[in-house]
Amino acid sequence: MMLEVKDLRAGYRGIEALRGVNLQVAEGEMVAIIGANGAGKSTLLNCLSGVVRAMSGSIVFDGSDITQRAPHLVSRSGLLHVPEGRQILSDMSVHENLLLGDLARGPRQARYNLERVLELFPILRERTGQLAGTLSGGQQQMLAIGRALMGSPRVLLLDEPSLGLSPLITQQVFAVLTKLHADGLTIVLVEQNARRALASTQRAYVLDRGHIVLEGDSAKLASDPQVIAHYLG
Ligand code: ATP
Repeated sequence: MMLEVKDLRAGYRGIEALRGVNLQVAEGEMVAIIGANGAGKSTLLNCLSGVVRAMSGSIVFDGSDITQRAPHLVSRSGLLHVPEGRQILSDMSVHENLLLGDLARGPRQARYNLERVLELFPILRERTGQLAGTLSGGQQQMLAIGRALMGSPRVLLLDEPSLGLSPLITQQVFAVLTKLHADGLTIVLVEQNARRALASTQRAYVLDRGHIVLEGDSAKLASDPQVIAHYLG
């Protein structure tokens, strides 16, 4: 197991956003977490990367308990998070944003380098000198993923990569994710675009008000009447 989450509870002053979540991700898997607005999907990813503190339960990453580990140390150990809204540094160039991503790698061996990232996202090569804030939404998403890859992830966490993107750009972003998965990268993907997420992953979890209510094979979930009614309608 690459990631093992047990009975995870987390929240914000008075709001329990995760109410005992259990989840496992094996090495090389691409797994989706789907659910309605406010189900707790972002909170779950934020707990995994240490941005939100767990109140109880445990998160084990490749055999090490990281439940209370600081975010910069979580990323150094290879769990890299592409947050919702991308959070690129607008006033820095594409090149500088990518180089910053390498800082997250720490002493681990580089698995992806600048050349590899620019091969995956050719549009970024054309814009290396451009200020990141002047890129389109799709290009910013590519930059955010590229920056995380520069940290040589062992597990890549993605929060709503399709948010605000056109169907064509979404397709391009997912084509790269599929390629990364085919290369052996472990990916955990949170998406409101459940149809897209289920079509691109092998296994998925359905989160509802802080609980995992369904889990299993993505193709099976995509044809489950309950999932169709609530998430694919
Ligand atoms: P969305 O798709 O809208 O981002 P989500 O499934 O990612 O939804 P979360 O963002 O994890 O859900 O939110 C879960 C619950 O926690 C919601 O009730 C939300 O209002 C609350 N919440 C999230 N972030 C905060 C915060 N910083 N402070 C207080 N409450 C928060």
